[in-house]
Amino acid sequence: MLQQTQVATAIPYYRRFIDRFPTLRALAQADLDAVLKLWEGLGYYARARNLHRACALVLTHHGGRVPGDWEPFRALPGVGDYIAAAVLSIAFERPFAVVDGNVKRVLARLFALPAPVNRPAAHKSFQAAADRLLDRRRPGDFNQALMELGALVCTPAAPQCPLCPLSRYCTAFKAGAIARYPRRRPSRPVPEVEIAVGVVFKQASVLITRRPEKGLLGGLWEFPGGKLREGESPAAACAREIKEEVGLAVRVAAPLAVVRHAYSHFRVRLHVFRCRYTGGRVRRNGPVEHRWVRLAALDRFAFPGANRKFMPLLTQDGEGQGAVPEEESTA
Ligand code: SF4
Repeated sequence: MLQQTQVATAIPYYRRFIDRFPTLRALAQADLDAVLKLWEGLGYYARARNLHRACALVLTHHGGRVPGDWEPFRALPGVGDYIAAAVLSIAFERPFAVVDGNVKRVLARLFALPAPVNRPAAHKSFQAAADRLLDRRRPGDFNQALMELGALVCTPAAPQCPLCPLSRYCTAFKAGAIARYPRRRPSRPVPEVEIAVGVVFKQASVLITRRPEKGLLGGLWEFPGGKLREGESPAAACAREIKEEVGLAVRVAAPLAVVRHAYSHFRVRLHVFRCRYTGGRVRRNGPVEHRWVRLAALDRFAFPGANRKFMPLLTQDGEGQGAVPEEESTA
């Protein structure tokens, strides 16, 4: 959970998760839907799917014990160098140095490293610096200390150098050059994608579809829709996408909301419409799993954050509230 998410945000999720899945076996044997539902709102859902699969593999291939060596642990789904070094050093006292954003900032200032912190190719030089510095007798404490120093003392905008235990070794501090580190490569503008989404009513139920397990928001449920083509109106795109995706004809009745949502590498602008089912059948065994669900039952399914933003506007007759103003979010 702490990969890409701050501790304060993760804590309530962690508690609920541990209550529901108190053992590795309980998580391994849980339904993926139940796992995603508890993860809902935390984002980066691949983490939940990978954790679920990793537990199943630990149960079947490692007798239910998390492996404490690099090779077998690193081979588990969702485990990269960062997670492997963090878990193996903290839980098993293995001598691996952790390099996250906070650690990179400390190292960049401590050694006046010229490599840009936001360039993947530069990661090696930060890892090499951390490897050289690592206390091999207490690698878990060392890693946590360096991460915490970056989070609390060597902060991005206002590092507290007079309080810092590293100040007498710190190249940037001694040279009066803290503002020059860490270096960053200018980042590219984030693209925005326009998407049309339909809330299709059939009597008292609405249609939801499930995203493929692999890829962005994999395994989550959503309202059907897709990207606008060039020159296409949002309403036309909504009807076309629903026809293509699930094979239904719908009448696009009224705009419900325009919602903006930011992901790590792009932003989306969702044009949401109330729609009425007019004909056709959802393709059985088609590429997309679907359900007709009463509004009161929507809460049982895990939805992406962008869908959650407009769901409170849904009313049973599908004609309820008027269009709402555009909403901005960086969540
Ligand atoms: S002395 Fe200042 S710049 Fe150097 S590591 Fe400490 S807080 Fe960061």
